[in-house]
Amino acid sequence: MLKTTECGELRSANSGQTVQLAGWVDRRRDHGNLIFIDLRDRSGIVQIVFNPEINPDPHRLAESVRNEWVLQVSGQVTPRSADTVNTNMPTGTIEIVAEELVVLNESKTPPFNINEESDVDELLRMRYRYLDLRRPGMRDMLQIRHKAVKYIRDFLDARGFLDVETPILIKSTPEGARDYLVPSRLYPGKFYALPQSPQQLKQLLMAAGVEKYYQIAKCFRDEDPRGDRQPEFTQLDLEMSFADEEDILDLIESLYTELFETFAPDRRILQKPFPRISFNEAMERFGTDRPDIRYGMEMSDLGSLVENTDFRVFQSAINTGGIVKGFSAPGLGEMPRRQLDDLVEFVKGVGAQGLVYIALASDANSIADLTEDNIKSPVAKFISIDVVKQIASKTGANPGDLLLIVAGPSKSTNTALDALRRELAERLHLADPNVLAFMFVVDWPLFIWNEEENRWDSPHHPFTAPQAGYEQELELDPGAAMSRAYDLVCNGLEAGGGSIRIHQRDLQNRVFQILGYTQEQTEARFKQILDAFDYGTPPHGGIATGIERLMMLLLNNDSIREVIAFPKTQSFIDPLFEAPDFVEEGQLKELGVRVLE
Ligand code: ASP
Repeated sequence: MLKTTECGELRSANSGQTVQLAGWVDRRRDHGNLIFIDLRDRSGIVQIVFNPEINPDPHRLAESVRNEWVLQVSGQVTPRSADTVNTNMPTGTIEIVAEELVVLNESKTPPFNINEESDVDELLRMRYRYLDLRRPGMRDMLQIRHKAVKYIRDFLDARGFLDVETPILIKSTPEGARDYLVPSRLYPGKFYALPQSPQQLKQLLMAAGVEKYYQIAKCFRDEDPRGDRQPEFTQLDLEMSFADEEDILDLIESLYTELFETFAPDRRILQKPFPRISFNEAMERFGTDRPDIRYGMEMSDLGSLVENTDFRVFQSAINTGGIVKGFSAPGLGEMPRRQLDDLVEFVKGVGAQGLVYIALASDANSIADLTEDNIKSPVAKFISIDVVKQIASKTGANPGDLLLIVAGPSKSTNTALDALRRELAERLHLADPNVLAFMFVVDWPLFIWNEEENRWDSPHHPFTAPQAGYEQELELDPGAAMSRAYDLVCNGLEAGGGSIRIHQRDLQNRVFQILGYTQEQTEARFKQILDAFDYGTPPHGGIATGIERLMMLLLNNDSIREVIAFPKTQSFIDPLFEAPDFVEEGQLKELGVRVLE
């Protein structure tokens, strides 16, 4: 090695030792006779002093050195005098008196400061990701990600799981997104698909008798760019034979509890064991299958309270099979008109027809004492004060709160109320960043009706088993069948999901049929797994959790791009490699691919 010691590890106890260091110039200060260089390597920073009276040659060379140059320095570890000790640096009680200096490489002035956590344009950071990754925050992220993944590997190894790699060039395995396709040169016209997850492969490993499998697996999903999606991401993917729901959920609960207690010891897990809530209850109370339960503002169905009011919007929602639902936002009863109008616009922007608000003045003594004078609402003339009181008490409101109500088809109403609830929680700072509200969402329906496409969909994927008792009647009433699926949710994020699987051909075929696959399609896409079911595939189940989501939760960072070494932008571009890119005409020819204009 070009160095004997790590910069960041030197302490007073090393005083008197001669060390050789190598690293980057974090900062250089020229005090005329003395030159100070903060030398940085992955472990941290140490101060080097160049004194012309002791060693003139290195001092002369140090005059030309600039930030981010790569240096090799030899010198003696020397205690600093009491007045020059820097308590902000772990190495601040010592410095290195330079005896030799070698410039290993020079650097242009970087496009942004490496030595401070300043706000830098994200695109610029991604264009120079190798410089961005030198910055302390990103360096720490890489280290914690490494350690967390190692922790996961050790945890599962200790419990008998085998890490098995599965192919990236494979055939479509559906998780509800589009596939990335790779044209085959050897078989013109044929394509590999990149796995949306190793789902079928891990099930085949159960057929193979592996019993306990895991992998830190790359998944590829060609979805429309949105918010915190990435076209490729990493999952902890695992599968167990002879296991039921409890085995998988217990395992994941222990793993996640240990991970957070180890890597985020200052944060508090809200409830242990992780609470479980059914999919239906989650939808009713929070309008979403991934509720953030760090704060209240739970929703109530108001249909029965408002069905006899004169307000047409409520009437027509109820008469057309929709819902009227709302919640109360604490302390927002005095919100100015303009901000209320903003909320209405917000709700329209997330798919609802509109928003009804009823502001409750804070000067009433109690909900029971409310009078017409205490409420402000554009619909006040359509709704009696008695109904307002009933809505207020059903939603748990107090004087001074704001009642927010949406009416319409149940899906868009829930979506809008969920978005509104999250938005208000953010504005009101209701979600404690130090709290981790883990929960399992269980009892999912096996099929969900897709209105737009007029067919049944699997909420997870088609390999999910139905709960006992529903098997006979799948075809009669698909919407009634409950599944053995579960999700791990934390702070409003879906942290993972899985299920106990189907392991019999007949049942799997029936599910494919309900999902609308023809016999030929089923054969073409799923022959391999159906065949395996014919040869003694054991009962099995598993889960996959997102490594990026885990890191975002661990680091309390709400951007997925901050926890990936080389992420893509929100529009799925890699600005460093400039991918995707055009390829040579010859390459296309070889692949037998023609690009349509
Ligand atoms: N393959 C599923 C997913 O990627 C997880 C699972 O069912 O194990 O979401």
